[in-house]
Amino acid sequence: DRVVPYDDSRLSKTAQVASMFDDIASRYDFLNRFLSGGIDLWWRKKAIRELRGCARGHFLDVATGTGDMAVMTYRRLAPRQITGIDISEGMLELGRRKIERQQLTGHITLSPGDSGHIPFPDDSFDAATVAFGVRNFEYLDQGLAEIRRVLRPGGKLVVLEFSQPKGLTGKLYRWYMRRICPLLVSLVSRNRKAYLYLGDSIQAFPEGDRFVSVLDKVGFRETRARAMTFGICSIYIGLK
Ligand code: SAM
Repeated sequence: DRVVPYDDSRLSKTAQVASMFDDIASRYDFLNRFLSGGIDLWWRKKAIRELRGCARGHFLDVATGTGDMAVMTYRRLAPRQITGIDISEGMLELGRRKIERQQLTGHITLSPGDSGHIPFPDDSFDAATVAFGVRNFEYLDQGLAEIRRVLRPGGKLVVLEFSQPKGLTGKLYRWYMRRICPLLVSLVSRNRKAYLYLGDSIQAFPEGDRFVSVLDKVGFRETRARAMTFGICSIYIGLK
C-alpha cells in the first residue's frame, strides 16, 4: 500500500513528497534537531565514518534536502567533491544558502534530481549517501538500482534510515511518533500532516533484513545492516 503525505490520488507520491518538503523546508532543520533531541547528528557521524576509505573521491548525496549530510560529510572527510540531488526545490534553495554561508560553494553542489532517474552517467561517483530519504522514494528498487548505476565498480553506498525498535521500546516509540511528535510539531509548524506521514512511512518501510534483501536484489554486494539507539535508526551498507 502506498503511504503518501496528502492522500491525493491525482498526484504521484514523488509530487506529494516534493510539495510536502517545499512546505516544511523553512522549519526542517530546526524540527529535525528538536524532534530527535540532536541524536541525528550522532547517527550521521556513524554513517560518515563508513566512508573513510573513499575520502578522496566524488560523493553523491541523494535526497540531500537542506544539505546537512553533504556539509557534515565534507567537514569530516573533505572528499574531492560532493553533489547533492533532491526533488524539493524549497529544500535545495535553503541548502544552497547554507553552503554559501559556510563558504563551501566550491566543494558542494546541489541540483534538482529524482532518485528514479539520476541525472548522471554510469560509474560517475566513488560513494553515495542517502540520509532519511529512501523511505520517501516512490520506487525503492528503481532508486537503489539508479544509485548503483552511477557508482563506479567498488563504490560504496551508505544509507541512514529510521527503523522500529522492538518490544517495550517499540511501543513507547510508536506512541511518541503517533501522539507526541505531531503535537510538538503543531506547536511550531502548521504542517501536522507531514509528521503523521513521518510515522506512517517509518511503519511501512521494509527495514532491517528486508531492506538488505532489496540491496542484494538490485545487485549490491557485501551488504549489511547495523541498528543504532535501540533500533530507532539503522545504517545500511552495500558495494557496487
Ligand atoms: N538527507 C537530508 C537530511 O538528512 O536531512 C534530507 C532528508 S528529508 C527527511 C527527505 C528528503 O528526500 C526531502 O528533501 C525530499 O524532497 C527528498 N526526496 C524524497 N523523494 C525523493 C526522490 N525520489 N528523489 C530525490 N529526493 C527525494
